[in-house]
Amino acid sequence: MKREENLDGLRQSPKVDVCIIGGGINGISVFRELALQGLNVLLIEKHDYCSGASSALSRMVHGGLRYLENGEFKLVQESLIERDRLLRNAPHYVAPLPTTVPVFDIFSGLGNGIVRFLGLSRRPSRRGAVAIKAGLSIYDFLTRKRALMPRHQFRGRRATLAKWPRLNPDIKSSATYFDAWVSHPERLGIELLQDGLLATSGAMALNYAELRRTENGQYHVEDQIGGASVAVEPALIINATGGWIDIANQTLFSPEAQPAPLMGGTKGSHLIIDNAELRDALADHMIYYENEDGRICILFPYLGKVLVGSTDIRVDDPETVRCETDERDYILQSLAFVLPDITIRPEQIVFQFSGVRPLPASTDSFTGRIPRDHFCTVLEPSEGGPPVLCMIGGKWTTFRSFGELAADMALERLGRRRRVATTDRPIGGGRAFPADTSVWLSQVASGKGFSGARMAELFARYGMDAEAIAGFIAAGPDAALPHASYSVRELQVLIRDEAVEHLEDLLLRRTTLAVSGELSLDMTDAVLDLLAQEKRWTPGHRASERHRFLTLLNERHGVGEDMLSARNEPRSTECDTTAKSG
Ligand SMILES: Cc1cc2nc3c(=O)[nH]c(=O)nc-3n(C[C@H](O)[C@H](O)[C@H](O)COP(=O)(O)OP(=O)(O)OC[C@H]3O[C@@H](n4cnc5c(N)ncnc54)[C@H](O)[C@@H]3O)c2cc1C
Repeated sequence: MKREENLDGLRQSPKVDVCIIGGGINGISVFRELALQGLNVLLIEKHDYCSGASSALSRMVHGGLRYLENGEFKLVQESLIERDRLLRNAPHYVAPLPTTVPVFDIFSGLGNGIVRFLGLSRRPSRRGAVAIKAGLSIYDFLTRKRALMPRHQFRGRRATLAKWPRLNPDIKSSATYFDAWVSHPERLGIELLQDGLLATSGAMALNYAELRRTENGQYHVEDQIGGASVAVEPALIINATGGWIDIANQTLFSPEAQPAPLMGGTKGSHLIIDNAELRDALADHMIYYENEDGRICILFPYLGKVLVGSTDIRVDDPETVRCETDERDYILQSLAFVLPDITIRPEQIVFQFSGVRPLPASTDSFTGRIPRDHFCTVLEPSEGGPPVLCMIGGKWTTFRSFGELAADMALERLGRRRRVATTDRPIGGGRAFPADTSVWLSQVASGKGFSGARMAELFARYGMDAEAIAGFIAAGPDAALPHASYSVRELQVLIRDEAVEHLEDLLLRRTTLAVSGELSLDMTDAVLDLLAQEKRWTPGHRASERHRFLTLLNERHGVGEDMLSARNEPRSTECDTTAKSG
């Protein structure tokens, strides 16, 4: 991922088969698809990879139980197939998740579900046991041939409260089924990108860059880091900018040839809560519950904390979305409804995040009813120039099939043939996954001179790539960082190999330091020193990076400098960084 080499390559040969704009999970997915077919493909991301909706998801890899009531059976079936593929192709990040639905009624929701399915009503309503049973039976039916996970199971009130005694005692019963979750969605995006880059020398990717259309209809890549402007001649452009699709189209077409709007995004926010009582009350399950207004919310253990969300609010511009006070109150109120005797103190909210669901344009007044399916459409510029294939909609779970669909349309358009399928292709650190991870771990740990605990930690972060990372760490003197289990050489390898351009890339996306609520001010400064050294930043540049990061963390993630300082207290979880500690 060498920036200057990429720009030089482009200067020497500006013709590319496809230029993709948008480096979220869907843009990266189609990038990998096309690179694997041997095309010259360029990916341009205006911010960092997976920094939009692809870092704001509920971290569920799921069929979408509630889409059944909208009649989206095809989407649910496709999502379940992709979920099961991800369990196999990315086992280092995607794992089964037992999910429990508290049930407050017996019959309600059933009639409404049918009425909605017939298009007679769009209003959300309570879902009773019968409606939930019907949905879960369809889920089981759709996965019956693969059956990777157990079928659903109902528990009566007494058995439910025995297992989850803190649940709202008004419940009538509960249903448990299995879906999946992703621990490191942003890292999976980076690994997918690397797989594409390794597939062919004709694949190039740049974060912090934009594609600009000049007045005479030519295209330039504008590099925000070095300031270069390099001409590029794509045969086809793919607009994979998710919630930004209409804004991006405005820059790709002349003012006289602006296309009609395609997108109608809704914002969703989540909180990460550090409250042991809450975490323990979940008994390692996701609680998939409806709030009093009938909206679905989720709650599950995530990296030692609890992830809870989300909201669903229409927005026009995804650029600066953040969790607003009323959303935070809504989420906390929903929590108080489902687990009434657990109190959350404000300082226990250790991180928050928001993103925009890239939903198709819709006039539906109930946002939860807007279709979640994906499709592509090709816009032909009347003024000449390359056609623009727009990717609309899509869930994180279905990124592979959506990327495949867009790639097939691009291949057909360019008169090229598919050579490689991605259906069973492992992703990044999911390759050659051992049947018995403990044997593999102890072999690699002893080979590299690491303790078993440190090797297990690297494995949880990088899957099978942990071996190469351990090799890099062991090849030089390592050192601990304040209050976190990441070490200096571990971060160095991420900085060098994973297109880190700003401090936030490292702290928010290549690592889980910020989202897990582990990040302290000391740690922030130590990582900044490391990054400044690697990038040879001047003291002035270092200071402006520090300001940029602290402002972003405060404004977008609700973590002020005072919260970071408070985490400077010594911690009991010591880091085992000595490569040769045995
Ligand atoms: C609150 C919430 C919860 C969700 N939960 C789940 C879930 O649990 N499971 C699930 O499967 N899905 C979930 N989703 C949906 C999923 O996150 C998205 O569908 C998916 O991440 C969209 O990916 P994308 O690549 O299309 O968009 P994005 O990730 O938004 O990527 C678009 C990228 O385009 C870039 N960009 C914008 N303009 C330009 C430009 N002019 N040039 C270059 N780049 C540009 C942006 O910077 C951005 O990185 C959720 C979404 C939200 C918001």
